[in-house]
Amino acid sequence: SPNFLPLGVQLELAICENILITKKGESEKTIIVGAHYDSAGTHGVDDNGSGVSVALENALRMVNTPTYYTIQYVFFGSEEPGMYGSRAYVESLSEKERENIILMINIDTVLAGDYLYLYGGKVNDNGTVDNTEAVFKAYEIVKEIGLNIQLPPDGNNDYPYPTGQKRSDHAPFNDIGIPYIYFEANNWENGSPVETEKNGLIMHTDMDDLDFIENEYSGRVQNTLSSYSILLYSLLQENNWEQ
Ligand SMILES: [Zn+2]
Repeated sequence: SPNFLPLGVQLELAICENILITKKGESEKTIIVGAHYDSAGTHGVDDNGSGVSVALENALRMVNTPTYYTIQYVFFGSEEPGMYGSRAYVESLSEKERENIILMINIDTVLAGDYLYLYGGKVNDNGTVDNTEAVFKAYEIVKEIGLNIQLPPDGNNDYPYPTGQKRSDHAPFNDIGIPYIYFEANNWENGSPVETEKNGLIMHTDMDDLDFIENEYSGRVQNTLSSYSILLYSLLQENNWEQ
């Protein structure tokens, strides 16, 4: 997430590629499952090896699962320097492809944060938020399954509820009006995203390392990844995202 780069740190923009995998459904209408695979000069386990692993696990699981919607997995390059991969992807879409995308699910940094969140919605120029149907529908599914995943708290003007702001690859999709659901583990208990109470931000620091995270937060890796995996699978079983 480019907003959280330490002051003075600039990442070099190398040549990058997005990696696309398409699984055809009954319909041409498409759900994008996106996760960026670059990292911010760290081991990149939390940000964003975690999102990549949830998306890959899902892709394997969906190979033999018939779905109504076509699913396109997109592993974005160069998110950290400024979402270059996702911007380029959105710009490359033909009008037909763009019309066919009915939902974008973005998975970014789902491992180390204290709590699991879902975000969605588009902030208008006047500060109101719309295009929230998808995220609220996803939250209903969370409650039906009984997963421990929540919406962010209301009341922070910098992060209008329930958007969590344009902090990752869903932003270019959001900008052209495509509904998104954004998965992220974080900690908003005090109204702003600090990721962990114990250590502050793990992303973009040397703490973004599997040994460190497993030692500090025993059991968290399995819990967070499995919760989001179950949710992603469930969201992709739905055949009524367009309303
Ligand atoms: Zn990230």
